[in-house]
Amino acid sequence: MLKIALQNGEFVITCEFVPGRGKDGTSVDAALHFARDVAASGTRIHAVSLTDNPGGNPAISPDALAPEIQKYGLEALVHFSCRDLNRNAVESRVMALAREGINNLLVVTGDYPASGFEGHAAGVFDLDAVQTVKYLKAMNAGLEIPGAKKGTTIRLPQTNFFIGAAVSPFKFKEEELLPQFFKLEKKIAAGADFVITQLGYDMRKVLEVKRYMASRKLLVPLVGNVYVLSYGAAKTMHAGLVPGCVVSDELLSVIEAESKAPDKGKQQRLERAAKMVAMFKGMGFAGVHIGGFALKTDDFLFIINRAAALEAQWEAFIPEVAFGRKDEYYAFPPPQTYRPGAVDDDPVKPIGRGRRSFSYACSDIFHRLVFERQSLVCKLLTRYYRAVGDRSWLARLAHAVEAPVKALLYDCQDCGDCALPDMAYCCPQGQCAKQQRNGPCGGSTRGMCEVYPDEKPCVWTKAYQRLKSARKLEELRTQYVPPRKMELAHTSGWANYFLGRDHAAPPVKQAAPEGIH
Ligand code: SF4
Ligand code: SF4
Repeated sequence: MLKIALQNGEFVITCEFVPGRGKDGTSVDAALHFARDVAASGTRIHAVSLTDNPGGNPAISPDALAPEIQKYGLEALVHFSCRDLNRNAVESRVMALAREGINNLLVVTGDYPASGFEGHAAGVFDLDAVQTVKYLKAMNAGLEIPGAKKGTTIRLPQTNFFIGAAVSPFKFKEEELLPQFFKLEKKIAAGADFVITQLGYDMRKVLEVKRYMASRKLLVPLVGNVYVLSYGAAKTMHAGLVPGCVVSDELLSVIEAESKAPDKGKQQRLERAAKMVAMFKGMGFAGVHIGGFALKTDDFLFIINRAAALEAQWEAFIPEVAFGRKDEYYAFPPPQTYRPGAVDDDPVKPIGRGRRSFSYACSDIFHRLVFERQSLVCKLLTRYYRAVGDRSWLARLAHAVEAPVKALLYDCQDCGDCALPDMAYCCPQGQCAKQQRNGPCGGSTRGMCEVYPDEKPCVWTKAYQRLKSARKLEELRTQYVPPRKMELAHTSGWANYFLGRDHAAPPVKQAAPEGIH
């Protein structure tokens, strides 16, 4: 239903629920009662969206509730994060969902673990969202796995997932925003079927996702996020406690004033949500994803019905949802119109060299001299490693030098499958808390890392600045980086490269999905 509706150009509505901790309780009842009531009322809702341990806290799995919801005749849209799963558990979960008849997944990176039993849980992040989409697509096509006889393969039965991806446009700086768009492009190239925006309250910013997609001819449906913002949620987001969710000072003041009404501002926030639905429809979005804390069925139905009544006036509401932050970066000039149809130029222009980072320049020169396949040094070292193997004392000595030097220069964790050249010589293992290899997660705030907001900039802002100064931004938005090969942990990245064992070497290089170079 969701897939068919989006493919047919119908304006879709999905309603989000956040299952809480415990096998039952208010949050579980809310989702199930919603499905029951909506099915009975005949209102056209295309999917009930179920979050997956949001905020990095444990909660009942959406996989358990999704089949119960589908029994009422509604489809479920299950959020799918790799924060808590390695790639084998991903496949297990996906196959279990397929058996339950769950076909809609929204792939997200996932918030960093924030709690857990007797201490915080470990963040797994074995795959990033781009790699996960690619894996899901491979399962849809019938995954090829080694057969019983050496050299043979067998194909697993196909799955039928309709795969959504998320994008977070509410970023403050250029070096924070454009990598989000680049990663979106990689998700689409990997096979994402539709896209949902992060929640936010600046229609110009959300329109920029649409403008970016149009400028790059990314022809997948884009769904807008409508979050009913209570005063409590606004305060939490304003304080930066919900990764990637932005509430400006001005918006907080507005919500605070509204909260003084006898109904604590409920009517006004539902009205704002209805106007946002009307705006997204007017702006040519493919649908809306409606959510909010403790919303009841009647609240959702009010928003949907009120939006239909307000549809004709949608353009008049744009100034009411324009809570950008002072000095915030926009990728495009102010729009001439919010109506669909306009196509902008690519916002990434050939840019002057600017000031190049010394560390980047040195790393780049060293890489070109030693690791470029055509270089004499690379050819000699490849021959050497092939001749002596990596168990020789000389190779061991080289690793003993490599590990501390790279630790000193790059925060190397000795993963053995080196992605430094893929990330402008920034180490994903040592410098990104979620070990992302294809672009940033959505959790940064004003350029700072979600996990270390007072200490570390997001490593992808650094990679962006380095590649911008070297005029190599195309690398950042088109180059697919495969998952780390765990079997290489604590072995020499240099040896693995020369021996063709890591992800970058020609003999083992994986075929990039269509559209990725
Ligand atoms: S080998 Fe792995 S841990 Fe070390 S710098 Fe390269 S990517 Fe980082
Ligand atoms: S460094 Fe960036 S991508 Fe990595 S966890 Fe922090 S905010 Fe996310």
